[in-house]
Order: sequence, then structure tokens, then C-alpha cells
Amino acid sequence: MVAQHVDERISISNSNSNSNGNSTRAVHGGTRREKAYHALNTPIVQTATYTFTNTQDLIDYMESKTWGDGEEREEYGRYGNPTVASVERKLAALDGGEDAVLFASGMSAVTSILLAVLPSGSHIVMTHDCYRRTRQFCQTFLKRFGIETSVVPCGDYEALEAAIIPKKTRFIISESPTNPYLRIADVARIAELGHQHKVLTLIDSTFATPINQRPLEWGIDFVVHSATKYLSGHNDLLAGVVVGRADRIHALRDARGVLGGVVDPQNAFLLERGIKTLGVRVRQQNTNAQAIAEYLEAHPKIERVWYPGLASHPEHHIANAQMSGFGGVISFEVAGDLMTTGKFIDAMQIPYIAPSLGGVESLIEQPALMSYYEKTTEERLALGIKDNLVRFAVGIEDTVDLLEDLEQALDAI
Ligand SMILES: *Cc1c(COP(=O)(O)O)cnc(C)c1O
Repeated sequence: MVAQHVDERISISNSNSNSNGNSTRAVHGGTRREKAYHALNTPIVQTATYTFTNTQDLIDYMESKTWGDGEEREEYGRYGNPTVASVERKLAALDGGEDAVLFASGMSAVTSILLAVLPSGSHIVMTHDCYRRTRQFCQTFLKRFGIETSVVPCGDYEALEAAIIPKKTRFIISESPTNPYLRIADVARIAELGHQHKVLTLIDSTFATPINQRPLEWGIDFVVHSATKYLSGHNDLLAGVVVGRADRIHALRDARGVLGGVVDPQNAFLLERGIKTLGVRVRQQNTNAQAIAEYLEAHPKIERVWYPGLASHPEHHIANAQMSGFGGVISFEVAGDLMTTGKFIDAMQIPYIAPSLGGVESLIEQPALMSYYEKTTEERLALGIKDNLVRFAVGIEDTVDLLEDLEQALDAI
């Protein structure tokens, strides 16, 4: 099964056991019990390089690296760091994967895994509603290397299967929940299609977090998160992670040593600190978002609400089966045009107007202006982005305060 990632060389308390709940894993997962200086927290090993006592020490290290039986140590900052490694073990434990590798940002994680695996002349199938930069990377950068991308509608598994080209397609990529429409991919079905056609599968699980969903347990090959969002949880750092089978992650770690997208040890420390409270934060965000989605759905000035926890959501049944919570992001359409929607957003007192999501503070944005400003209304509509669409990424504030804030802002339009 899972959690074999636990390295025999280190003594890890049984609080890392995969039978533990996800809050316990968030606090203790991957953490060593014996720490430098008896400190409870993982030290920040702020160094770019590592030293050898003498020539024999170096020779012993090189021999052990070749034969894989030596002491555990690092060589150079781009190849590894103990603070980073500690977070990687925690993230593997949380997602139920064998190993995890951290990157400098979510985009660095996405681009590194694709660059590491895809040969020229290969092909990717991706679902339509997805992070804009991921699609841009596939359709412009990878295209230059002769790698083609087919984009299929979310939820159309016949189209997804039909898009697979035998011997050419190497990856099926999807988000779940998606951005900005919170569509839910049937990850079990995607995993099955991948196995059937011998194609690797990757789910960007950023919006769900390992608290709400663990795609590896449904047979997916790779899970990616922008750790900038819920995992770090405080809008104070950028990082990304890929979780999966040990041999594949090992190869990806080697690729990171070449591509160079490493996370700074200081940021790794902050990320570990953030992850410890992931369980309580995400549960509060789930609660807030569900209450807000239900409130908005009943409000006459709201035309449509997209939230997987609502029975009206097209994939509510899949979300119910695959997820243990529906997440902290709600998208909705205000009854009004671009500027009326802006007026509503301006009237909100608690959330900040900002891109991103997953932190303790509520953030609100109008995708038409924040992400697609340079496009016309018609071009945006062709991409499925309406002018009156609002994305509300709720924080951990009190539910009642957020509801009252929404009420007074909707009264103002
Ligand atoms: C933010 C985000 C990314 C990119 O992550 P960065 O850390 O900003 O590079 C990728 N996928 C999803 C779903 C995201 O929300």
C-alpha cells in the first residue's frame, strides 16, 4: 500500500503511520523524533553547500553514493537539504505517496515533471478548466519541443479517451477541483483510463489539499500542489510539490538538480510550520465555504453558484464519493455586468482583492479583470469566463462575519 516512503535509515515515530488521521499526519507526518540540539522543530539548515573532512571522507561518500549504502548526508544545495527533505517526507505522508519532491513554486513543480518525463514528439491530454499558466506552458513552451497538447472538456471521458494517441500520449493532466469553476474530475476514472492506455496520470490537487482528497489512493500516478496556497496557508511564500511512487520521485529529484527549481531552506521551514495547522484550517474553510455557497445560492442577486458541496453542482455525486470536504473556494455570478460586479467586490469589507487562495485571509477577485484583463468580453466568453464571475477564496474568519459582509455588499448593488 502506501507510506513505504518512510526511509529505513531514519527513526520516525509511529505517529507517521498511514492509519493515522490527516490532522495527525499534518502535525507529525515525516518528522523525525530525534532532532539536532533536542529542539522540537526541524532546524533551518541555511547552507548552499556541505563540507567533507578530508579526501578519504569524499572518496567514501562517492563510493557510498555509487553503492547506496553510506551515511545519509548532502553534497550541494541544489541536490538536497535536510529542512527541505523533512517537508518532503511530511507531504508524502499526507498524500499517501511513497515520496515527494519540493520545488520553488507550483509552476516549477508542473514544468519540471513535464520536462523531466516527456520526450519530443509526445502528446498530452489535458482538461479544459485549468490553471492558465499550466495550459500556456503546454501549448506554447512544450509545443516548441514538438510536444502537442489536446484540451478536452471537463467531465467528458469519451472525449478524453478519444484524444489519447497510442504510443504518443504520455500524460493525462487534470485539476480537481478546477479553477475557476470548481469542476470535479472523476479521478478513479482518469486513473483507470491511464492504466488501460499506459499513459501517466497527474492531478493538480491544489484546491483540495490532502485533507479533502488523496488522488494517489484512487490510482493516480502523480499529485501536484501549489504549496503557495493551502499547504503553506499564510500567503507568505511560494513553493510547489510533486508526490508519487518512490522511483519516479527519485528520478524527478535528479531532474530538479539539473533544472534548478529548488525551494529555499527558510521557506521550507515556514512551509512545514504552515502544514502543521492544515487540518484545522481546511476544516474551517470547508465550513465557511459551504455556508457561503448555500447563502449565495438562495440570494436573488446571485445568478449562479459553483461549489462542489451544493447538490446543484454538476459533479456533486463524484465529489461526495471522492472527497472528505469540498474546499474553500466558491465561484459565483452576480446579477449584473462587469462594473456592477466590481461594485459588489468593492463593498466587501473583510476579503482582500488579490489573486491566490488558501491562506488564512479571505481573498476575492473577478477573473475577467484579474486573470483575463487584456481580453475582450467576447474572447473571455470563448474561454468560459463571464464578466460577472467572482471567485471567493474564503479564509478562516468566523462564518457569521463573512455572511454578514456578503449581505451588506449585496445590499449595496
Ligand atoms: C497557484 C496555482 C498553480 C501555480 O502555483 P504557484 O505556486 O503560483 O507557481 C498551479 N495550479 C493551481 C491549481 C494553482 O492554484
